[in-house]
Amino acid sequence: MTIKKADIVLSSDAIFTGLTHEPTPGAIAILGDKILSVGSKAEIEPFIGSGTKVFNYGNQLIMPGFHDFHLHIMFSALSLTSINLFEARSAQEVAAKVLEFSKECPGEEWIIGMQWDAGYWHDKQEPHYKILDAVIPDRPVVLFHAEGHYTWVNSKAMELAGVTEEISDPDFGRYERDKNGLLTGILYEEAQQIVLKEALRLTQNKKETILKEFLRLLSQYGITSVNDLFAPIDDFLQDYDLFEKLDKQGELSTRFHITPELDGNLDKAQILRNKYESKKLQFSGLKQFVDGTVTGHTAYFLKPYSDQLDICGHPALDPEVLIDRVVKADELGFRIRFHAIGDAAIRLALDAFEEAVRKNGKRDSRHTIEHIEVIDSDDIERFSKLGVIASMQPDHMAASSREVYSSIIGPEREKNVFLTKSLLNTGASLALGTDFPVSISLNPMRQIYTAITRVDSSGDSQNTWHPEQKLTLGEALQAYTYGSAYGCFREHELGTIEEGKLADLVVLDRNLFDIPECEVLKTKVELTINDGKVVYKSEETSLSSIF
Ligand SMILES: [Zn+2]
Repeated sequence: MTIKKADIVLSSDAIFTGLTHEPTPGAIAILGDKILSVGSKAEIEPFIGSGTKVFNYGNQLIMPGFHDFHLHIMFSALSLTSINLFEARSAQEVAAKVLEFSKECPGEEWIIGMQWDAGYWHDKQEPHYKILDAVIPDRPVVLFHAEGHYTWVNSKAMELAGVTEEISDPDFGRYERDKNGLLTGILYEEAQQIVLKEALRLTQNKKETILKEFLRLLSQYGITSVNDLFAPIDDFLQDYDLFEKLDKQGELSTRFHITPELDGNLDKAQILRNKYESKKLQFSGLKQFVDGTVTGHTAYFLKPYSDQLDICGHPALDPEVLIDRVVKADELGFRIRFHAIGDAAIRLALDAFEEAVRKNGKRDSRHTIEHIEVIDSDDIERFSKLGVIASMQPDHMAASSREVYSSIIGPEREKNVFLTKSLLNTGASLALGTDFPVSISLNPMRQIYTAITRVDSSGDSQNTWHPEQKLTLGEALQAYTYGSAYGCFREHELGTIEEGKLADLVVLDRNLFDIPECEVLKTKVELTINDGKVVYKSEETSLSSIF
């Protein structure tokens, strides 16, 4: 019998297959889009033929490709051509940066910025449209807050969108007003939509250009699969036809899993489910918001906010409507993913999933809750009992100023913040991701670093937030690979390095298991293989000339 010869053989003293929590020495043979065999270097030797490319990576870590379980594809693509305002330390500094950026893009009508966060500002000046008007009165400006749930606009933007003092608030969200009842230019939740509709009229050409740019960035970070979660901005930016076009042209160098809105229209959902089922572009469930965010005071809590004793927040949808939508979608075999941040929102999402089991019977539904920022201790064990996946983004914990965050929820609830390890210990499935661009970086290393260190927003390695909630490195890597593959019902073909699985692999420039924690952030990807093809190689790699 002749043995099939591999296209590529990679070997290293440190291969993290994902089947255990530790790396082992060995080699991997790849043929076509699949892993032909995994074993010791001697066991893989027979697969090497005259046409096989063979590379030994010493002690550099080889692992399954990262699978970002929660991000926003077109919003991310847009962020690459907008200004990042995270480093600004006052409203005035934001305005100055926006002015500078506006000069760099004179051809664009709208000026788009992201990631401003007043929780880090040195002075107490609140954001206001007048501060932007003072520098840019004649071009519309829209600036997304770091948490992505509210925006700061100038008066030109409000004028073009038709936002006037007479406007009334939507069901979920509000046009912020000062103590005299006048607009401030801060638009919460659904109140953003009227402005975004105008700001996000992108040409098809621009959409394609920014999406391709984003695909390049994904491969550079070793991300071989992503899940695209519905966000309200999708009403203006989403373009599944464009994804399909790139898929057919063989240009999807990362696997896309799409999760459109759970909006009660299940006929539309059925069509999308049947339409997108290729190995690179797959429908992967329906998403909805149960609440908003902590700093926006739109997260839904069981007890009032500690700094605003008259409000608890409220659900984005009437609970009865929400539960009814879940039960009906579940009956047709759809998987639901719920954004839930406050303890009441998390409980409501779990109640809805429980009701689906009661009405439709138990099935392998893999319903999922996103973020899980402040959970009541009574609800932790319900995840594993109901088979609900915990989808978390560790770096969200280090994103908002911890001081501001803690003062909003108070000391009692502060104990219940981002309980990653508790969820894992009770047997819940965990899947990690970034929520990019509603996070500072797309780089998985930031998430891994925060997951294993619990370093808070100060960035000081001495300041850890609930250190007992640290994950081990092996647990974090597994949740970022196998955990997400399981979350897509694809653990039979993705998520670990095993014979017969699709060849999605990365080689890092060092061995994460052999370095101090602070070096995790410096770790870079040297090689990314998606579907058996090299989609990224770093310029530093000594092996670059061979490919
Ligand atoms: Zn998100």
